[in-house]
Amino acid sequence: MSSTGFTGFTLQFRDIPAVRHVARRLHNFPDCDMGPGRKYKFHLRRQRIRISEILYSGKRTTVYLGRCTNGTEVVLKFTDPEDILAEAGAYDVMADIQGTAVPYIYGVLHGKDRKGGKMSCLVMEHFGTPLEREFCTLTKAKILDKLVAVHHAGLHHMDFAERNVLVEGDDYRIIDFESAEEHQTPCKWTYKFIHHVDDDDVDNESAFVDCYVVKLWAEQMEFWDHGRLGLCHVVFVPKSDKLPSQSVVDAMETFIGLNMKTVYYPKETKKITVRYFVEVQRRLKSGQPLEELQEQRDWITYLVHKQWHEERNEEFEPPSMDFKNRRPPTSYILSAPSKLACC
Ligand SMILES: [Zn+2]
Repeated sequence: MSSTGFTGFTLQFRDIPAVRHVARRLHNFPDCDMGPGRKYKFHLRRQRIRISEILYSGKRTTVYLGRCTNGTEVVLKFTDPEDILAEAGAYDVMADIQGTAVPYIYGVLHGKDRKGGKMSCLVMEHFGTPLEREFCTLTKAKILDKLVAVHHAGLHHMDFAERNVLVEGDDYRIIDFESAEEHQTPCKWTYKFIHHVDDDDVDNESAFVDCYVVKLWAEQMEFWDHGRLGLCHVVFVPKSDKLPSQSVVDAMETFIGLNMKTVYYPKETKKITVRYFVEVQRRLKSGQPLEELQEQRDWITYLVHKQWHEERNEEFEPPSMDFKNRRPPTSYILSAPSKLACC
């Protein structure tokens, strides 16, 4: 108990549905008394916290959204008490980057289950929502710089993944430090990703990129394209003037291999994919806006396939998609199949 008369908290679970979740095991559920331990300071005054939502529920972990009496939203993570302490320890090491690279932590609350066993939860600020899978180079740069901040604070995350990144507007926080380990020697990485958003490559010998783990994650997230374009995630080709930029490629993804009666071998798929993007680039260069091209994606895909099969004197029978209905206004049909650019 602290000198402020701090004795405990009541977590009120009356507003959430009657589904399975970890805190149901708490003594006196749904009005559960918990209190801060001696190890870590707790940064909220004693009060009732109304639990309003379950944000995540797994076999041994449940994450709740709670509301303090003054309206502040907090996130409460219940999992095995030893993991909570390990994670609280990691956040303690990262005190200087709480609220910037990782969430701000209020502290740990302890209580008992119905059988007298220990139960604990980590209480932290409510920040954003989990990151969606598709994200651009600028987003990657911001996230990777935050990962570097974690390294500079002295930790390896050990479970870094998109699911452990939260986004709110254009800001990010890395979470889930249960498995974090000490960065044995101070991290020497000094390359600021945000200053290198347009870089294709990086000099592996450079003293600025001297941390194997950060490098590995940057490669995993494809921060550098190493002069290559990834087309529809399966075909990699050198960058060229004939092909659009990676961001246009990503915005114009399509399905390759339309003909019902054809088995497309990887070599052919690659050629058709490249032709499709060459056609996209040709149209872009002729002044057609990207938004229009996105609407015509199916049509362009159809034209490229049609030409491909005509060249082989093969019957072309696309699936039941009615391309005629998707046909854009006549003014856009500048390229008859026979005039399609090819490479
Ligand atoms: Zn490092």
